[in-house]
Order: sequence, then C-alpha cells, then structure tokens
Amino acid sequence: MDSKEVRNILETGLPQNTFSTPESCPYCEGREGETPPEIHAVRYPGTVPNSRGWRVRVVPHYQPVLQIQGEINNRGLNCYDLMNGIGAHEILIEHPEHAKDIPDYPHGHLVDVLTTMQSRIADLKNDLRFRYVLAYKNYDLSHGIPHAFSQIIATPITPGQVKDELINARQHYQIKERCIFCDIIRYELRSQDRVVADNGLFIAFSPFASQYPFEIWLLPQQHELFFERNAQLDALADILQQVLRRIKRVSGDRGYTMVLHNGPNIKVSQRRGYWKTIKMDFHWHLEIIPKIAWPLKYEPILGFAVNPVPSEMAAQILRESEV
Ligand SMILES: [Zn+2]
Ligand SMILES: [Zn+2]
Repeated sequence: MDSKEVRNILETGLPQNTFSTPESCPYCEGREGETPPEIHAVRYPGTVPNSRGWRVRVVPHYQPVLQIQGEINNRGLNCYDLMNGIGAHEILIEHPEHAKDIPDYPHGHLVDVLTTMQSRIADLKNDLRFRYVLAYKNYDLSHGIPHAFSQIIATPITPGQVKDELINARQHYQIKERCIFCDIIRYELRSQDRVVADNGLFIAFSPFASQYPFEIWLLPQQHELFFERNAQLDALADILQQVLRRIKRVSGDRGYTMVLHNGPNIKVSQRRGYWKTIKMDFHWHLEIIPKIAWPLKYEPILGFAVNPVPSEMAAQILRESEV
C-alpha cells in the first residue's frame, strides 16, 4: 500500500480516490456491489439487500482499523500491555445521492439517518467485548464534493480522550452532585450570549472559551446519558439542520467534523464497578467543528489552543446568518 492509498483510506474509507466524483463513487446508489455487503439498511419495501432502493446504508469499512472476529486476549509483554485488535468499523452512508448533505436532506431523511445511528450503536453495545462505540463524521469539501457518510468504531478499550472527559464529568459530580453539562445548559440558557439555536428540547451553543473558531456543542436539554436512547429525533434533526445550515453559510462551505460524545458501554463496565455514578454525571452531546480558512495556527507550538474568534462573537454571527 502506498502513501496515497493510505491517505485515501483515511479520508474516504476506500483505497481509490474515486470518491469525490459521482461518476465513480462506490457509495452512490447503483454501485452496491463495490462495497462490502451491507450490515443494515433503511430500504423501500420490496427491495433486496445490496441492491438499489435504500435510503440509508451501513457497510463494513473496506480496511477496518479493528477486526470483528476473535477474542480480546489482554496480555503483557515485558513492560508493554498488548491486546488483539478486536472491534468493529462501519461506514454509515447517509444518502443514496452524491453531493447531498445534512442541510439538504428532507427532514424525515435525517431522522432515518439518526435512527440508523442509534440502532447500530445499540447493536454494537450488545457485544460485551466492546467498552465504547465512537461515532463521528468528517465532511471535507477540500478535494471536491464527497459522498456524505459517518463512521462508527467499536473499541475494546475506552479511548483516552473520551475517558478524560468521562472522568472530568465524574469529578464535577463528586463535588457538586450535579451533572456538569446540565449546569452549563442552565447557565447558557440564562445568559443567551453563546446560544446559536434552542428549540426547547435541544440547545446548540458556542462553548465558553472554545478551542476552535465557530465550534458548536449540541445537547438535549433534559439530562440523558445515551444518544441511542433519545426519543426526540424529530427535534434533534430540526436543530442539527438549523445549525449546519448556519455553519455552511458562515464558513464558506468547507465542511465540518462532528463527533458524538456518548455514554460508554456500561453493560461491560458494570461488572468491573466502573462508572458507578455515570447515569447522573455524564450527558451525551455532539461537538461540531467547522472547517474554516484561517491564516495562522499556533496550537502545535504552544500546546494550547488559540481561538481568534470569541465564542460570543461566533454565536452572534451564526444566529444572524440567514437560513
Ligand atoms: Zn457518491
Ligand atoms: Zn446532564
């Protein structure tokens, strides 16, 4: 495998960079035979798997970072800890048509995408080898117009960054006996300075002293640990479209990354006594970072983020953008 192929796989989940043109994109409807067989699909009645007639389709990653078959086999080698690369790596193809993304979907289609995401996460959490299920989307328009897809990765360990966030939330709870995210929501709703959208059930705001310009957090206003248990997908689709339409308008349409910060697989950790207070202390949310052109980036030198656009200004610009 050459470096170009590695780059393509990282960006698109496919070895060949045919992805940015609809003429040769394997994620477009009609080319179902060019992906591994589907794991799950939302289909029109009377259609068969791996053929036309789907609205949302989930397939295994062409070259997964983790393999679904096998045992975990946690072991030591001198001072190193080893574990087999067991896990799942799935591609959720969000729409049969190329060049369509969340701001363009009919409302009901986005609800189908979110329902599919919930059902894949719930299904993967039934596998007791997996401690965490990551879900994220990297929608990058810098090399042409891509086909919209999200990635779902189930891992046998809780990834470090996720664990840090879970531990921080637990520490806040241990001191204050309140969920830190509920505290933030209450404060942001009261102040309104950083709120971008609020539909009564969800809130989207630019977080205080955000790391990235125009970064947005989107949370259910009622305390909830698991995204996959949320029963208000209509309202979630509504606010998500609103936010991404505003970002698209403001950021020059370069794309965005969106990461789901979700509760871990407590079916596994309950046995080991981890996360005893997690149902009270963690609150699922989406973190959205638009890809914007900015002349200088300091982070690699300084080791901390320098955000040239204050959250309050970003929120104001996004609120005022027409959608
Ligand atoms: Zn396509
Ligand atoms: Zn909460």
